[in-house]
Amino acid sequence: MANDDLFKKIISHSKEYGYVFPSSEIYDGLGAVYDYGPYGSELKRNIEQYWWKSMVQMHENIVGIDAAIFMHPNTWKASGHVDAFNDPLIDNKQSKKRYRADVLIENHVEKIRAKITKEVQKAKKRFGDDFDEEQFLSTNPRVIANQEKIGTIEGRFKKALEEEDLDELKQVIVDCEIADPESGSKEWTDVRQFNLMFSTQLGSVADKSSTVYLRPETAQGIFVNFLNVLNTSRQKVPFGIAQVGKAFRNEIVARQFIFRTREFTQMEMQFFVRPGTEMEWYEHWKSMRMKWHRSLGFTESELRFHEHLKPAHYANAAVDIEFEFPFGVKEIEGIHSRTDFDLTQHQELSGKKLQYYDPELEKSYVPYVVETSIGLDRTFLAVLCNSYKEEVVDEAKNTSRVVLKLPAVLAPVKVAVLPLVKKDGLPEKALEIFNDLKADVTCQYDEKDAIGRRYRRQDAIGTPFAITIDHQTLEDDMVTIRNRDTMEQERIKATEVKEIALGKLDWKRMMSV
Ligand code: ATP
Repeated sequence: MANDDLFKKIISHSKEYGYVFPSSEIYDGLGAVYDYGPYGSELKRNIEQYWWKSMVQMHENIVGIDAAIFMHPNTWKASGHVDAFNDPLIDNKQSKKRYRADVLIENHVEKIRAKITKEVQKAKKRFGDDFDEEQFLSTNPRVIANQEKIGTIEGRFKKALEEEDLDELKQVIVDCEIADPESGSKEWTDVRQFNLMFSTQLGSVADKSSTVYLRPETAQGIFVNFLNVLNTSRQKVPFGIAQVGKAFRNEIVARQFIFRTREFTQMEMQFFVRPGTEMEWYEHWKSMRMKWHRSLGFTESELRFHEHLKPAHYANAAVDIEFEFPFGVKEIEGIHSRTDFDLTQHQELSGKKLQYYDPELEKSYVPYVVETSIGLDRTFLAVLCNSYKEEVVDEAKNTSRVVLKLPAVLAPVKVAVLPLVKKDGLPEKALEIFNDLKADVTCQYDEKDAIGRRYRRQDAIGTPFAITIDHQTLEDDMVTIRNRDTMEQERIKATEVKEIALGKLDWKRMMSV
């Protein structure tokens, strides 16, 4: 199946089986915003819990917080988000890459300048000691032409920026025939002045001082609480603070379903370490996090590290963990060695000392930070893509099924309880079993439709086990248990169902893969 088709099928399956709906669909949806349905919200919660257990519960030196989405506006000044996100952006239609329009133009000018420099160097070599650079620059026709080009471009560029004339900015790119540095395409969208942060007003009076932002990342909630946690949790460096929460970015290129949305959930952990030890911790968390992804059932070939050659200004090392989605290999998690950038910035702007006294070194310092930052929605999508299978059930009868082979720990429903028919006391017996199970395992009772159709439905939502209660059950208390993946059926005691299901739901075992 072509990957495009596969992805379309996964999207429509998500909708049909209550995993993901377009937001406010009765009003035709809202761009790049999605809602999670009955099964989707369970899967999402299970992934989140699995992350929390493996990052917080399993580490005595990591604690969690739950910071508010709104933060003091200075937070975003200190972090650089207020200034750094205010760029004129342009997208290449073909490659879907987004660039800063001013950087594209500046790079283009640089290239022309480099031509002039080359011309000068060549002439210097040719004329030796007799070379008069000034005269050469003012008389060589190629140099003059290139200088004029630069003058014209820079003149237009400067004026466009001063007048905030975004149409003219695009026209400069078009007239200069600037191509996408990656794909070579010259198909550009319009230029837009853009800050990725959503802003709103705090209180009833709308003036500039009351502007607050919806956080574009959860990390800053952790940095500003560094001292509070240090003083209340009895932790010592090295230690981590973890958080799961919503983040908001007004993404321009928002597509590929829930891969890139404007409202999403991040699961982040900031690990505070002694300066100079950050690279060891960076390697440690790289391998820990890769192991975690493998435990979700992703194969080695579906995952890869993508090391950043030029990390962001605040980082001294950065790597992405990428997953092979049907639409390409893309980032799901970033691991960044953020140095002491954020704490130092907050220390400067707030005037509060954000330091740690290290009893071994007998001195205070601003700790360095290694962060692991993963998108819950992207992980959800990866899990969904990885588990979606179309299988032939019986070649002779030409029957097939769609099954979500989700890891049992993550499956929204673990056991389906199905009376064979809707009469003869079978529903009552099935409900008795259901009621006995429900406190320990998420289960679902279903009596509608023929049993074969009910099995297919449970396959489609990814339920690992289905048990059927028939007339014989009333006599010997035995039920049929059906395995989602093998479709094998077995007769077992009704009292054994819980144990079998719980055995498969052992998240510690899942983690030790
Ligand atoms: P991208 O390059 O894809 O925009 P990013 O490098 O800006 O991502 P980070 O700021 O490192 O992303 O955020 C950490 C994680 O948060 C990402 O790995 C991703 O899983 C998730 N994430 C970021 N932006 C979005 C978004 N718009 N929608 C869904 N998840 C997102």
